[in-house]
Amino acid sequence: MTSTDTAHQPNREFMHHVSDGCACAVCGSDTRPLAMQVLQRSYARDASLPKGFLVTAMSVDAMRGVFPVCDQCAPLCPTCGLPAASAAVLKFKKAMKAQYGKAVCPQHGASDTLSTRLKAIFSRALKFGRN
Ligand SMILES: [Zn+2]
Ligand SMILES: [Zn+2]
Repeated sequence: MTSTDTAHQPNREFMHHVSDGCACAVCGSDTRPLAMQVLQRSYARDASLPKGFLVTAMSVDAMRGVFPVCDQCAPLCPTCGLPAASAAVLKFKKAMKAQYGKAVCPQHGASDTLSTRLKAIFSRALKFGRN
């Protein structure tokens, strides 16, 4: 996964919102607000689509779409304000061979200490290079 510059500029489009006739692909809830940009996948045109998958674009040989995820399965990250993947989402992502969408927290939760440490090491290395 490449780091995204937009991750720290949350866009309203990326937030959870209530969508009629749409359910969370992970837990099945159709009453909670859903985030559409957390998990995405594409399927061959003739593939049978899994439950919960929403087609957003179609080409000659493929269907692209998203798995809507509710605000309970992907709660907003307090650090960047984007939906963060819970363990249930990670499991679902793996099972569906899905990819992260445009708006998902780059994991400020569990792995936060590690990434902060890595960033510290990198910035130290950069300073070294300049001197
Ligand atoms: Zn859910
Ligand atoms: Zn975050």
